Amino acid sequence: MWEEWPVPQRILVVLAHPDDPEFFCGATIARWTAAGHQVVYWLLTCGDKGGNDLTISPGELCGARFEEQRLAAQVLGVHEVNFLNYPDGHLVPDLTLRCDVTRLIRKERPDILVTCDPRTLFFGEYRINHPDHRAAGQAVLDAVFPAAGNPYYFPELLDEGLQPHTPREVWFSLTLDANVQLDVTDLWETKIRALTEHKSQIGDPAKLAERMRSRHTSDSSPENPRYEEAFRRIILT
Ligand SMILES: [Zn+2]
Repeated sequence: MWEEWPVPQRILVVLAHPDDPEFFCGATIARWTAAGHQVVYWLLTCGDKGGNDLTISPGELCGARFEEQRLAAQVLGVHEVNFLNYPDGHLVPDLTLRCDVTRLIRKERPDILVTCDPRTLFFGEYRINHPDHRAAGQAVLDAVFPAAGNPYYFPELLDEGLQPHTPREVWFSLTLDANVQLDVTDLWETKIRALTEHKSQIGDPAKLAERMRSRHTSDSSPENPRYEEAFRRIILT
């Protein structure tokens, strides 16, 4: 399991929007940085459609969300936050995005790659997954295999000096088909603190905290709440 990984591992998180890492797997990220691993984010959009207030321009929202994401990542001990600047809501898992993600993988050369499960269409009866999330997960999956590790794919990347690289493991968050459930009870409040930095997204911070605290496992009791984050973990080498 992850506790046996040599320290430090290079962990690359590729997701669609600012706040996705914290919502999907923020407590796990905090656990990994505390253990001495190096975590780098690449977010594919700046979340410039994350709101309904037309008095704020997409550019202004983008700027605010860059800053919120930096502060949230700081709470989790993340080493670097980067953006690819695709327009929010326009992600499609085409060959352009696949090439861009392949470039990231070859540049960052992660041991562990974290994204989200592209198979998740909806949650229960009330929530539909954002198409950008599915597109991001699909683009990462398709880039990992076979493009990132095969020099015949996207030869222009070799011209950029980027040699093939395959991560050892891929962890898909936001999954309905988990094969790993990490107990993150001790880091749940850290996750909530990080989420609270996404001020433009969360509304009343007290309500958010209450909502997040209600997401305990079914075997929790009021005196001893327990929290988990779930992943589909794929081991490649
Ligand atoms: Zn999102």
